[in-house]
Amino acid sequence: MQANLFFMKIFFGTNNANKLREIQQILGDKFEILSFKDVPYLEVEETEPTLEGNAMLKAKAFFEHTQIPCFADDTGLEVKALGGAPGVISARYAGEHCSPQDNMVLLLKNLEESSERSAQFRTVIAYFDGSNMELFEGVVKGQILPFQRGEGGFGYDPVFVAEGYEKTFAELSSAEKNLISHRGKAVRAFGEFMKEKNANN
Ligand code: IMP
Repeated sequence: MQANLFFMKIFFGTNNANKLREIQQILGDKFEILSFKDVPYLEVEETEPTLEGNAMLKAKAFFEHTQIPCFADDTGLEVKALGGAPGVISARYAGEHCSPQDNMVLLLKNLEESSERSAQFRTVIAYFDGSNMELFEGVVKGQILPFQRGEGGFGYDPVFVAEGYEKTFAELSSAEKNLISHRGKAVRAFGEFMKEKNANN
């Protein structure tokens, strides 16, 4: 039987070394993932009103920039009692140059009076190869605590407890979090698609 030597370069528009490592592990060595370590940086403003819109906007812009198949992600925390906010503006909920701490303080303040604490993290990955666009989604449902707990993670992790867990995301190890997280799920869905694509070539 002939070995499958198919090897594909794809570009991931990120500076985040953790995201890159995670996705390389999932895709395996048949894919070489290029990032801004390999090509000149391109700033793409996230101007769309949805996670899907922003992920597609970035994947298209990165394709124009690199001329190789590209993927990009966008994530938001969607809180039921706030009608899905902060959602697409999760990174800048408390203002353009605010810190994660500012965002959490505002979130807890806006939920102060609310007994409805359901929320979800949602990641959308868009893959664009110059002609086709594919979207992948990962969701983790949970609750917003009335206070912060835990030192790990980033963003809203200290106030989010996933369904079936007692620890916040900031109290889980990164391996535990990756297993159940929105991003982990979206990345694995994307990984399955790419592996299938690879197998069919
Ligand atoms: P990004 O699209 O991955 O840059 O995420 C946008 C924003 O969502 C981040 O700046 C964080 O505020 C929030 N966020 C995304 N993923 C997570 C997570 O895993 N834990 C906590 N906050 C997150």
